[in-house]
Amino acid sequence: MTAVPNAGSNGSAGCLAVDRSSFFAPKRSLGQNFLSDPNICRRIVASLELAPGDPVLEIGPGRGALTRILAGHDGPVMALEKDSELVSWIKSEFPSVGVVHADGLDFCWEGTRRLPGLSLIGNLPYNVASPMIWEMVSRCRSFRSMLFMVQKEVALRLTASEGSRTYGALSAWVGNFVRGEYVFTVPPHVFRPQPKVDSAIVRFLPRPDPAWDDAAALSWTVKILFQQRRKQLGTILKAHWSGAVEAWCADLGVDRRIRPEELSPDALRSLARVLVPSK
Ligand code: SAM
Repeated sequence: MTAVPNAGSNGSAGCLAVDRSSFFAPKRSLGQNFLSDPNICRRIVASLELAPGDPVLEIGPGRGALTRILAGHDGPVMALEKDSELVSWIKSEFPSVGVVHADGLDFCWEGTRRLPGLSLIGNLPYNVASPMIWEMVSRCRSFRSMLFMVQKEVALRLTASEGSRTYGALSAWVGNFVRGEYVFTVPPHVFRPQPKVDSAIVRFLPRPDPAWDDAAALSWTVKILFQQRRKQLGTILKAHWSGAVEAWCADLGVDRRIRPEELSPDALRSLARVLVPSK
């Protein structure tokens, strides 16, 4: 970080109007594409539809583009950031925000249970957005809403239905825990540095019947099936085929020549129970 003599914590020192956040050079390894358009930032935060008193957790506050708006929210505001330089800066710039220095890939998401009705928001680091969402949707157990910016291609996968070209393991997994919605597309020019591709906002609301008890079996099942998504179900599951799988096919009217991408999240959950009964 570059030291700025006499600059106050809000970035203005005497006649110098300095935004110190711009002194943090973006780190590619941390997926740092910072939002630079206040209108988009306001639209993103408004899309979370926070009510007074709602607790909110921002993932990856970075230089505070969204945090600046969230800090005005009438309710507890927290932020989770991996970059230690930015953690210190966010703490001094937004004293009312509770900042956690942690890695979202290695975070105890179960602990958010202590904040019932929590909303999560973030312009996620694109290099790790999918595994982070995989963990958050399945391990946050009492959240109200999640709103994330990801690459458009990932947003399409996250909200795809079975049978579509973009439906895969991530869609099937996420669809077992939350209801996903594609909210709007965000063009590259609102970021610094600019990414090469479009981004998009996705919203997740909890399902009334999340697959918590089936998570281990479901994870195994979607991974094994979608590793070979072009193959037929009967071929992929040859080593695991049994009378129980046969009965599952009969119950659901599923032909063994079907491809995994044609199975809905619910069908995959029931198949997971048959394939991995002990989990
Ligand atoms: N919210 C800011 C904005 O919109 O301008 C920054 C978004 S930037 C795309 C992603 C942010 O996530 C960065 O601040 C980065 O340091 C942080 N980050 C990257 N990897 C992370 C991880 N594993 N856990 C938590 N934060 C991470």
